[in-house]
Amino acid sequence: MYGKLYLCPTPIGNLKDITLRTLECLQSVDLIAAEDTRVSMKLLNHFEIQAPITSYYEHNKREKGHYLIEKLKEGQSIAVITDAGMPGISDPGEDLVRMCVKEGIAVEALPGPCAFATALVASGLPTGRFAFEGFLTVNKKNRLEHLQSLMEDTRTLIFYEAPHKLRATLSDMLTVFGDRKVVLARELTKKFEEYYRTTLSEALHYYEETPPKGEFVILLEGASEEDLRLKELAALPSAEELLRRYAKEGLRAKELTNRVAEELKQPKRDIYDLYLKIKETL
Ligand code: SAM
Repeated sequence: MYGKLYLCPTPIGNLKDITLRTLECLQSVDLIAAEDTRVSMKLLNHFEIQAPITSYYEHNKREKGHYLIEKLKEGQSIAVITDAGMPGISDPGEDLVRMCVKEGIAVEALPGPCAFATALVASGLPTGRFAFEGFLTVNKKNRLEHLQSLMEDTRTLIFYEAPHKLRATLSDMLTVFGDRKVVLARELTKKFEEYYRTTLSEALHYYEETPPKGEFVILLEGASEEDLRLKELAALPSAEELLRRYAKEGLRAKELTNRVAEELKQPKRDIYDLYLKIKETL
């Protein structure tokens, strides 16, 4: 009979966040596959867990994956752990699960610590619909394309980011999304845990003065209905064109927006909002 693969979440800071089931599982498996064995040995020693440990990480996941599958087929049970949090979430695990599913090997995930879920529920942003986007790539062009693809997404957007890239990321976000609400969830479950609930421009200003330290989850407000409506309207070249044309004829704000609204059969309020956005350039 085949063994089973267990995905075991480990603490993202506070060691007390390991669950009893995870401890029991780590104590009973035949083998633990860890992202970085040195990091995990500290945790395993702390909890006096003595199962054999082997490495399983981004750059050995192909050959090590096959090795682990062979062991599972021989009937061994294997637990996957990473440096912190839930395996498979911006961490190794996903490929091994896929291989197990393909081979008909049972997979069980144990619930437990995960930085983005922890940050989301305390952020104050809508939790009903969200998109977890993980880490953005370091390539500037691809980053911007990734962010642009999310411009019309109304869900709360969640990102992981390293402290030394935080400022560049906030700056790119401000360029693409405008000044939306953002929550920076830092050092969760640790001594200096902090939620900074602010806007992109203020966050950028703050971190330009205070170098970011620690681990961050960035949670960004989704596009509002208002954003989408204005964007749709701005996409109609005629609305802006007409405002400019009639402004040149000398029409004042009220007459100008009424006339354009009538001509385009659009709500006056929308045309007036667009007028406010562009009035300095008329
Ligand atoms: N598998 C992990 C999980 O379940 O959240 C994520 C691993 S990913 C390699 C590491 C990133 O997660 C960090 O760069 C940071 O964005 C986020 N993270 C991990 N621990 C955190 C913490 N204690 N506070 C805030 N963010 C954290």
